[in-house]
Amino acid sequence: MSIISPELNTALDPAQSWKECLKIIRENVPFITYNTWFLPIKPIEIEDSVLKVTVPNSFFVEWIDEHYNTLINKTLSQVLGNSAKLVYVVGDDKDENVAFENSFNIPHKIEKAKIEEPKNKEYESFLNPRYVFDNFIKGEGNQLARAAAFAVGDSPGETSFNPLFIYGGVGLGKTHLIQAIGNRIVSKYPNKRAIYLSADIFTVEFVEAIQSNSVNEFSAFYKSMDVLIIDDIQFLVGKEKTQDLFFHIFNILHQSGKQIVLSSDKPPKDLKGLNERLISRFQWGLTTDVQPPDFETRIAILKNKSENYGIYLSNEILEFIAHNITSNIRELEGCLIKLLANASLNSKEIDFELAKKTVKEIATTRQVNISIDYITKIVCEFFKVEENKVREKNRKKEVVLARQIAMYLSKKLTRSSLKTIGLHFGGRDHSTVIHAYNTIEKTLADDIKIRDSVDSIKNKIELSFS
Ligand code: ADP
Ligand code: MG
Repeated sequence: MSIISPELNTALDPAQSWKECLKIIRENVPFITYNTWFLPIKPIEIEDSVLKVTVPNSFFVEWIDEHYNTLINKTLSQVLGNSAKLVYVVGDDKDENVAFENSFNIPHKIEKAKIEEPKNKEYESFLNPRYVFDNFIKGEGNQLARAAAFAVGDSPGETSFNPLFIYGGVGLGKTHLIQAIGNRIVSKYPNKRAIYLSADIFTVEFVEAIQSNSVNEFSAFYKSMDVLIIDDIQFLVGKEKTQDLFFHIFNILHQSGKQIVLSSDKPPKDLKGLNERLISRFQWGLTTDVQPPDFETRIAILKNKSENYGIYLSNEILEFIAHNITSNIRELEGCLIKLLANASLNSKEIDFELAKKTVKEIATTRQVNISIDYITKIVCEFFKVEENKVREKNRKKEVVLARQIAMYLSKKLTRSSLKTIGLHFGGRDHSTVIHAYNTIEKTLADDIKIRDSVDSIKNKIELSFS
């Protein structure tokens, strides 16, 4: 498709232009996506290659911006020229004040931003501006973690919460909280250098630095930070070289009063396969957990988020969802998004029936998140073996069987590597795990009793995650 010069676009018809855009979009996304997110968009006007469109609610803007920004920009520049942009207006309100700009890939805007950027921002902080304290809802399960995070965000490096270590299960707000710290710091102290990244990205970057002979540069970069925020530190388990370097960076930063913030799926002492000296450092500051939200918090979260998305849910629906989706906040959010998608897909009101259908869909597609520790616990309960025995060098017949079954199920039911599994069983080698796996496979074929036992253990584990 040829690129039309922007000057000509002022004369274009908004409906016709949007129709052209839709044609391209239709070829690039699945039908359901197209139907849900793009068809409800209505063009209003075009002026100076700015296409103004209405969307049903602000959630659309967020969603489209997060998932389809690149596609929209490509499409716009194909249809309306390189300087084209899209402005969203929520609902029927045509007041410019509520318009949201799609802000990506607009050349003149990027140039301007470059000039205005403060000097200390020659690096990417990877902080997502969406994660702030303002939209983090307090509840019993996150009160202490939130308070500590807030204090750190206020006075980085100056509280005794250094490092601040927040742990807990998936979807409970760890990433949100630790990024909120970073966002608060950079807005309150524009000269402070803060960076957020997950431990697996840190590892990947480190490996690249080794390959390109730039480890010194790599470590100097992190040592230059005032605030280092590392998510999912459990990914350092089993990665000794990365741990060594991280230990070194940690010390330098800590000694010079820089703030360190960490998150993990478990408390430091349970991070098996992590160097003892790191575990002890992690406990220098404050370790605090986040717990699943109680019923009242779930209602508060649902209310708040649905209002932000511009949808109204009756108390009956709110309570129904809060009663049925209990495990974490990501799932509550997922449910709202699904509800909204279902409603917009079928141009239906969000009524109780739709809520019921949606909650059911979520229950059946629930992400399985089984941990090795949980498997070990259930296996040990079943065989009445003490948990620590399977992690020690105990050679008793029933302990060996429990250990091998736990290893076997860990391989079957989790995505953990053989190495990680080995580490959970007293630092055994990956070949031991393979041996256990093969032994149990064979036993299952020959021994009906064991097969029954393993089946019922497996059912029990899977049930508690469905
Ligand atoms: P974790 O890192 O613990 O797995 P996240 O921080 O990614 O969890 O949270 C999952 C989703 O739930 C995110 O979209 C986050 O914004 C939201 N969320 C979590 N806790 C809260 C809360 N207390 N208030 C509002 N939103 C929350
Ligand atoms: Mg997270």
